[in-house]
Amino acid sequence: MVNQMSYEELERRFRELEEEAASNACLKEQLQIAYRELEKKELQIEECFIKSNALVVEKELARIELNQIFNTSSDGMWIVDNQFNVIKINHVLSQLLGKNTSDAVGHKCYDLFGGSLCRRRDECPMQLILKGKKEVEYDIERNSGNATNFFILTATLFRDLDGEIIGLIEGFKDITERKKIEEELQKANHKLQRLTVIDGLTQIANRRRFDEYLQEEWFRMAREKKPLSLIMCDIDCFKLYNDNYGHLLGDDCLRSVSRVINDCSKRPGDLAARFGGEEFAVILPDTDNEGAVHVAEDIRVKVQELMIVHAFSPVHRYVTLSLGVSSVVPEDISNPQTLVERADIALYEAKRAGRNRVFSKAL
Ligand code: GH3
Ligand code: MG
Ligand code: MG
Repeated sequence: MVNQMSYEELERRFRELEEEAASNACLKEQLQIAYRELEKKELQIEECFIKSNALVVEKELARIELNQIFNTSSDGMWIVDNQFNVIKINHVLSQLLGKNTSDAVGHKCYDLFGGSLCRRRDECPMQLILKGKKEVEYDIERNSGNATNFFILTATLFRDLDGEIIGLIEGFKDITERKKIEEELQKANHKLQRLTVIDGLTQIANRRRFDEYLQEEWFRMAREKKPLSLIMCDIDCFKLYNDNYGHLLGDDCLRSVSRVINDCSKRPGDLAARFGGEEFAVILPDTDNEGAVHVAEDIRVKVQELMIVHAFSPVHRYVTLSLGVSSVVPEDISNPQTLVERADIALYEAKRAGRNRVFSKAL
């Protein structure tokens, strides 16, 4: 066919063939580019596929780990979403709440737990965590019928693997036993402390407490430049009472007299103490001599008014007291012993003057 073509035709055909060849080369190049793009896309798809597989595995591992933590923990645990719905709970906590695990899921945490914090909005762990607090730790208590349990509650934000906030994970450490032991220890300590400062027979302050308190008040009154008074009281002819009525009645008498002395020491700062045997003392801070004599006279009258029969007393048919009063505005350089000595001298003078009376010796 070419043989029959004219030169012009041949030339045109040649040009056509030349153009066709050029366009083929271009097509080939485009094909190669498209091919490379395709390869890149395939690689990306493969990568995505691997990543998503890894994510699934990671999620599954996280789920297994979480389950393990939940199931092996000796503390109660749950996860609560930000609408207060329980979405996961462990056996320990569900048992404590008296529910099956499956019954608890889906319920509101405050309905299930009903603890001391649930009624206080500003202390609700959920509110605090959602407001930005990283972790919350509280001592809380829960009353369920006849029992009260104590817990340490810890709450932290709970996110999924993408970092989305799901709600809270909360742990409940039961410290009821520890609390009980602590309370018992505290009671025993109080008792012990009381025993060291209380007189066993009369249940008022003992000599040790008297010495301690007198020292404290001496220096306090010295600082404040205020008067400190002391009353020493002694039951009249008590040996005769004991010898005739016996020690048991003697003890009863001591208890009754101590009650009166204690009742007459009315101000919060006053201290009535058993000084020893049938002697009592009253410390009256911020009280002048006149005031202290007034208190002493009140004690004397009220003891007589007890009308404890003492048929063997030469003083009165009832049990009576003699009282010595001393008062001073203390000075740092001296010590309270002088106050005790003065009150003792006054008491001795009251005895000598016939008993059942108040004598005073101001410093
Ligand atoms: P006065 O009027 O001079 O104070 O004479 P008194 O007999 O009260 O004093 P004395 O010191 O001679 O005797 C105190 C008595 O107090 C001796 C003891 O029989 C009695 N007594 C001391 N402590 C106790 C006690 O704890 N219980 C009993 N029942 N009696 C006690
Ligand atoms: Mg005596
Ligand atoms: Mg006496």
